[in-house]
Amino acid sequence: MVLQSDMYDVTVIGAGPVGLYAAYYAGLRDCRTKILETYPQVGGRLISMYPEKEIFDVAGHTKILARDLIAQLTEQAMQYNPTVVPNERVTGLRIRGERVIELSTPKGRHYSQTVVIAAGCGAIVPRKLDIPHLTDLEGHGIHYFLPSFEPLRGKRVLIVGGGNSAVDWALSLTGIAAEVTLVHRMYKFQAHEAMVDRLLASKVKVKFPYFTLKEVMGEEKVTGAVIWNERSGKEERIEVDAIVLSIGMLTNLEPFREWGVNIVGSGIAVATDMSTNMPGVYAAGDIATYPGKILLISAGAGEAATAVNAAKEYIDAGALGR
Ligand SMILES: Cc1cc2nc3c(=O)[nH]c(=O)nc-3n(C[C@H](O)[C@H](O)[C@H](O)COP(=O)(O)OP(=O)(O)OC[C@H]3O[C@@H](n4cnc5c(N)ncnc54)[C@H](O)[C@@H]3O)c2cc1C
Repeated sequence: MVLQSDMYDVTVIGAGPVGLYAAYYAGLRDCRTKILETYPQVGGRLISMYPEKEIFDVAGHTKILARDLIAQLTEQAMQYNPTVVPNERVTGLRIRGERVIELSTPKGRHYSQTVVIAAGCGAIVPRKLDIPHLTDLEGHGIHYFLPSFEPLRGKRVLIVGGGNSAVDWALSLTGIAAEVTLVHRMYKFQAHEAMVDRLLASKVKVKFPYFTLKEVMGEEKVTGAVIWNERSGKEERIEVDAIVLSIGMLTNLEPFREWGVNIVGSGIAVATDMSTNMPGVYAAGDIATYPGKILLISAGAGEAATAVNAAKEYIDAGALGR
């Protein structure tokens, strides 16, 4: 028997940008809302991985620092006073009855009529390269995330990768680092075209296509790198103080599979209303997948609104507010 006072209308798992927006939208729809977050702080990857990076592709902002976007999303969400529970990782989800979902964490249980899973990509580990000295020098010049740019001020930095993150890091570091070099092994960038144009017109030394990092040099800290051109077979040694690897993330969605949600590829499969295969359970943001999915904050915000509208309708079929 679940006490009425313990029962929420919508519980959001994850307080990243998408979870925060889902909480705001649930408040707007007059839902009693709770957010459960593993970490002590809200903000998801924008705070844990790139608080100082500028974001250029969020509606209504020409550019905004990740940290400032989270501050605004938090203020927006808090207007409706959701219950925010930090330091609680949801480890279990069970349907206990009609419109009764039980969420378990190492600290206790939470009850909700509906759940929006906005957990990003689950447990993530940066992808690494199997090359000499890389792991030995982690923390001594090898970086996978840049929570602050200050440690790289005045340094010579090598960025490895050709996606949005690599291109954005490279651009953000010009003017802070003494010198920025970017190597990319593919024949094309996987970043937004306008940002690639900006990169190619910038002071960043771009080595592409077919350039890979072959070896990290240095005993106690990074002092250089060996770069290899796959096509010409030629090697080049460059002096650098820091190397940022931005070659993707390995995700682990196994814990979600155990809850009973349908996992397809690297996400939770959702229908067009963001519902999963479990009644009352929705997913939004990077964790949700469907044909044509893109992993962007703006897309996730739209999905959050869709998920909450569907959840509201599930709770109250007569609700007209969408
Ligand atoms: C370096 C980098 C740069 C990027 N730049 C841009 C950009 O410029 N523009 C753009 O649109 N996108 C960008 N992205 C992508 C963007 O960060 C993601 O699309 C966005 O973070 C997705 O938001 P989310 O809320 O779905 O997930 P996340 O931001 O990952 O947040 C998920 C939250 O859920 C929590 N969580 C996970 N599991 C649980 C659990 N079991 N219980 C409780 N809490 C849980 C996590 O701790 C986390 O706080 C970038 C990504 C990276 C890595």
